[in-house]
Amino acid sequence: MSDYSIETKCVQGNYKPKNGEPRVMPIYQSTTYKYDSADHLGKLFDLEVEGHMYSRISNPSLAILEEKIAMLEGGKGAMFTSSGQAANLMAILNITSAGQNFVSLSSIYGGTINLFAVTLKRLGIEVRFITPDMSDEEAEKMFDEKTRLVFGETIANPALTVFDIERYAKLAHSHGVPLIVDNTFATPILCRPFEYGADIVVHSTTKYMDGHAQVIGGVIVDGGKFNWENGKYPEICEPDESYHGVVYTKSFGKAAYITKARVQLMRDFGAIPSPISAFMINTSLETLHLRMERHSENALKVAEFLEKEDKISWVNYPLLKSSKDYELAGKYLPKGASGVIAFGVKGGRAAAMKFMDSLKLAAIVVHVADARTSVLHPASTTHRQLTDEQLVIAGITPDLIRMSVGIENSDDIIKDIRQALEGI
Ligand SMILES: *Cc1c(COP(=O)(O)O)cnc(C)c1O
Repeated sequence: MSDYSIETKCVQGNYKPKNGEPRVMPIYQSTTYKYDSADHLGKLFDLEVEGHMYSRISNPSLAILEEKIAMLEGGKGAMFTSSGQAANLMAILNITSAGQNFVSLSSIYGGTINLFAVTLKRLGIEVRFITPDMSDEEAEKMFDEKTRLVFGETIANPALTVFDIERYAKLAHSHGVPLIVDNTFATPILCRPFEYGADIVVHSTTKYMDGHAQVIGGVIVDGGKFNWENGKYPEICEPDESYHGVVYTKSFGKAAYITKARVQLMRDFGAIPSPISAFMINTSLETLHLRMERHSENALKVAEFLEKEDKISWVNYPLLKSSKDYELAGKYLPKGASGVIAFGVKGGRAAAMKFMDSLKLAAIVVHVADARTSVLHPASTTHRQLTDEQLVIAGITPDLIRMSVGIENSDDIIKDIRQALEGI
């Protein structure tokens, strides 16, 4: 399969039925597996042989999906998780402990900010936020001998800033730590972070990978290139007593990180999705390449339309020439910048709410990256408790509308926006 292009891998990239077997991947709805001998099961528990023990750790349906996503990203292995939040949590906890810290870009998903700044802090793991306008010298000051990784989002949700992956991979590697990239909005169709030096990729599969608003899920993908044997990661390079002293780097080589995440963290946290979720995401992935192309095409058309409208005060989309990240988008997102745009309506909060109420095709939902066009007004919903002043500090203006442009006909989407604007 490795010779084929990414479009072909989306459609046929993992499941290979043998003679007379089902054409479509099976749903192995089983918690349990059967063995011919107690000895074999004992070896499984010591990680001496490959195979499934219990569906809280692995399952054949999940494995089919994991292999496909690893293939699409160009990684060594992947682990499907019950949500994007679980993926980010385990990606970080896999290589950090209390008393350590990590560096993250500040423009990231709100749920991830909560996880980093509140919950991980309570566990004794400190996040140190940096901004893209900080010089390398300023960012360097955030690192010390307890720093274990750098984190950022390819296209930030909802700020839509583009992550300079090569720059931060260099910075991370100069400190002997890996770069973890949340590639949710770009998907491997628009950007493959491993090609720019990222070490671990995470996704909320709930967004474009699903694309139909049906399944909450996440995934961690291991690039397999980072050298863990630099003294900072004893949890990967030294014996794990919970497996009779297995050493992940010795037994699993390039898949050391992802194997540890599964057999240790997934075993203990249990954030495993259902086999039917893997089946549904797999079906969605078969059209990912077509959908991302159309989402991107439609979003650019809508963004260009909005820029010319009198009642719109500003528009943010990475591939608009007016975007401050236009150059970075050209480098990292040459095929498109996905379907999410942000814009402001003249008249502030009241006008924004009136505009949204007047939309007929686009629906008001707490979601993005759906085949159906949708809108969200953070100031009156997800960030409702903040004053207008606090909103500005959070980078969310009272007039900001986040639109997730779907894959309908773009003329219909624009017609809907036009009639809603007439009403304000
Ligand atoms: C939605 C989202 C998450 C969280 O994913 P869930 O599947 O909702 O848990 C993480 N990162 C980004 C960039 C997201 O958009």
